[in-house]
Amino acid sequence: MKPLYPLRFEPIFKHNLWGGQRLPGFLNRTPPHDNAIGEAWVVSDVEGSLSRVADGVLEGTTLRELLAADAARILGTATAPQGKFPLLLKFIDARQELSVQVHPNDEQAAKLGPGMFGKTEAWVVLDSCEQTSRLYAGFAHGISADCFRKALRDKTTPGTLHSFTPKQGDCLFLEAGTVHAIGANLLIFEVQQTSDITYRLYDWDRVDSQTGKPRQLHIEEGLAASDFGRGPCNPVRPKVNDSEGVRRELLVNCEYFTLNRLTSRVPFRIGAKGQCRMVVCVGGSGEILWNGHRSAIATGDTVLLPAEVGEATCVPSREVVLMECGLPQ
Ligand SMILES: [Zn+2]
Repeated sequence: MKPLYPLRFEPIFKHNLWGGQRLPGFLNRTPPHDNAIGEAWVVSDVEGSLSRVADGVLEGTTLRELLAADAARILGTATAPQGKFPLLLKFIDARQELSVQVHPNDEQAAKLGPGMFGKTEAWVVLDSCEQTSRLYAGFAHGISADCFRKALRDKTTPGTLHSFTPKQGDCLFLEAGTVHAIGANLLIFEVQQTSDITYRLYDWDRVDSQTGKPRQLHIEEGLAASDFGRGPCNPVRPKVNDSEGVRRELLVNCEYFTLNRLTSRVPFRIGAKGQCRMVVCVGGSGEILWNGHRSAIATGDTVLLPAEVGEATCVPSREVVLMECGLPQ
């Protein structure tokens, strides 16, 4: 295999009835002819939506092909369960609310077939509207399985969930089994396990304008995957480390991923020796320096640093905010 370098992938845009028009601009891409783009998958090894390298000698190669050639050069000592890259990174533009939904855990997903994983996820709010945005995460206090079933029948589901108006920068960590929904007018960065299994429990009684019908619900599967022990889920409290002009905030450190937010106006190190890291620029701009090469990074850009590359330097041109995701070692 050719030498590796900091890899950029072509974003994969997804049509969703609740989506909007903000993502192509946010990612500096020409808009496809679609006015309801809900998601842009920026690192993906989900079947049918494989990320491809956007530039350099590996242009056009999929992330899966890179792993198949030599997983250790990409992942270091981290593992690729079933030969798949373990994380999916995406941006979400919720013009309308997403369904009330739940995802299975690994054990439940494995029963659906080989190569199926659960979905633990984390959100970082990039933009929110004080008047109309709401996040729904976990059950409100005292909601039993029976109450929830009744609410599904009576179409009063949102009232059974804990909800709040998020602020820009809020991070929510949602373990598989937590019932949740993203409300309207939110722009979100999400990191999650490589999985696309969603059980829709309630869809706000709306009709899909493309089909003229409501979207399918998955009540029984969803109830089986719902963890009634998961009550109100609130934004995480970051562990903050300020050092030499660089703020490092640890947002999530779970069995599937780590998530840090790095904010700085002065040059700083990204990545880690011998490890695979992904950096996603969510504010500002600058350059990435590695091995004598320079490349620009701006809001909406994602760069994967393979283990073989390890560390690089980010040189901000103005204050830059990066989300840095890592794999458990
Ligand atoms: Zn979800």
